[in-house]
Amino acid sequence: MDIGGLETVVANCAYISARDNTDGAAAAAMRDKKMRARLKLPHIRECEHMKAALDTAFDSICVKQPIGKRLFQQFLESNTTHKNAVELWKDIEEYTICQEMDRVQKAQKIANKYYESASKHFCNFLEEKAITRVKEDFKNVCGDLFKESEQQLLKHLEKKALDGYRTSMYFLRFVQFKWLESQPFDEEWFMDFRVLGKGGFGEVYACQAKATGKMYANKKLDKKRLKKRKGYEGAIVEKRILAKVHSRFIVMLAYAFQTKTDLCLIMTIMNGGDLRFHMYDVDEKSPGFDEKRACFYTAQVICGLEHLHQHRIIYRDLKPENVLLDDAGHVRLSDMGLAVELPQGQDTTTGCAGTPGFMAPELLQKKDYNYTVDYFTLGVTLYEMIAAKGPFVKRGEKVENDEVTFRILNNTVSYTPNFSKECKNLCEGLMEKDPTKRLGFKNNYCSELKNQPFFKDINWGCLEAGTFPPPFVPDPKMVYAKDIEDVGAFSTIRGVVLDNKDAEFYSDFASGNVPIPWQEEMIETGVFGELNIWGENSKLPNDLDP
Ligand code: ADP
Ligand code: MG
Ligand code: MG
Repeated sequence: MDIGGLETVVANCAYISARDNTDGAAAAAMRDKKMRARLKLPHIRECEHMKAALDTAFDSICVKQPIGKRLFQQFLESNTTHKNAVELWKDIEEYTICQEMDRVQKAQKIANKYYESASKHFCNFLEEKAITRVKEDFKNVCGDLFKESEQQLLKHLEKKALDGYRTSMYFLRFVQFKWLESQPFDEEWFMDFRVLGKGGFGEVYACQAKATGKMYANKKLDKKRLKKRKGYEGAIVEKRILAKVHSRFIVMLAYAFQTKTDLCLIMTIMNGGDLRFHMYDVDEKSPGFDEKRACFYTAQVICGLEHLHQHRIIYRDLKPENVLLDDAGHVRLSDMGLAVELPQGQDTTTGCAGTPGFMAPELLQKKDYNYTVDYFTLGVTLYEMIAAKGPFVKRGEKVENDEVTFRILNNTVSYTPNFSKECKNLCEGLMEKDPTKRLGFKNNYCSELKNQPFFKDINWGCLEAGTFPPPFVPDPKMVYAKDIEDVGAFSTIRGVVLDNKDAEFYSDFASGNVPIPWQEEMIETGVFGELNIWGENSKLPNDLDP
């Protein structure tokens, strides 16, 4: 083995062992004790002033923010009037993530416990309509059986419990966590492992939050390369969009900071690698996917696109290498650098952005366009998953960009016998040259697309709840990335000088942690539990004594 090969083996070992150790006691052992010790709650006197400035909307502090919600639920549990409500809430949450086979039984149990007026746990705030639906529909597994009930439950709690929560010890505890959350987090909190992939402005590394042990991906954008190649706009757009969208089908941003040389985005680590790697590098003798696998990935990508489009974001860079697999084999969209957000009141945009061979005709023709361009790229991506080549090139063919553009505008796509009728029809519906006739996002949803025969085996409710089993599960002992020496180095950038205006942009970019993912990290790694200790009679220990 040469030295380069050895470097990869050593780096892979360190990375595999770090990501293996991320739950329970093993994770605690992996933590950097000095950094962990810096995560501690302040004395209440130090942070009480923050209370007035906090956004105290019910949905934000009691539902969306994970630590806020935990503490709100603890408050409810401490109060007999809210006991039934909080138990129902937790049971509904458990139901939505439970195994398929347990579902009917769980639903039945919930219905008996909370929906029967004779039961001592009966929840009288539930409206008749929700009660009837649950009682009649509980056998209909995997769906939104308790959706209305949950809405009514939350409305009830907002009215009856929010004020009490805001004046409780539990809310003071939340303020303490918000103080901790607002502390600066930057490169010293992270340790890099091996490189996972290479982008246009820098490399993406596996990394670990030292204090908690949680693994992330660190996408580095080289400051000088960004400046030279006018990448500022893309960098800030990528950061803003990733921080804003919360979907299981899109990678999530947890931190943004700067180092001397780079801007760093710390995001969900996708240990399974990208779809391009799986199509061409895992089994070189039979590239591409069978239809079952292609169908599953396409369905998850559609959920990601639908979420982006509902938030007025056009992605523009869908392609296999930007779709990443996690440990379980689910996929998420990543790489929002070319995305664009349509301001309210503006329904189209212009501008050439994307990857040659994927861009939609209307975009190439410099017309105004909107979300339709993402469904063309979806068609190209699906086609490539089956054919193991793009629809507008022959396998191995090198083609000039102008020629690819010409073919996209003029040629009809041909299909090999590998394509089933349903798959071919879907590809044609997506790669339809006229955007008004193309399948896609209509009336705020992708229903028409989801109802295509190609997806007949997809249960969309389960897929969206994350309980639909993936057709392929990555091997936990494998590293789905190129060997380090094959990733390829960047050339050094010369002749770029960074000035004050650049510095201003960097500090704008370096906004630190993002609340929801940061709180999730604290909970998942057990740090929240370690810090959330109560004294006698639920007092904040060592806080109230002067
Ligand atoms: P660029 O915007 O320059 O194309 P990407 O965000 O696409 O950069 O990242 C480049 C490559 O790095 C991806 O194709 C993928 O292989 C890898 N990568 C990116 N993000 C992650 C992540 N969150 N987890 C694991 N690998 C990633
Ligand atoms: Mg990319
Ligand atoms: Mg990009």
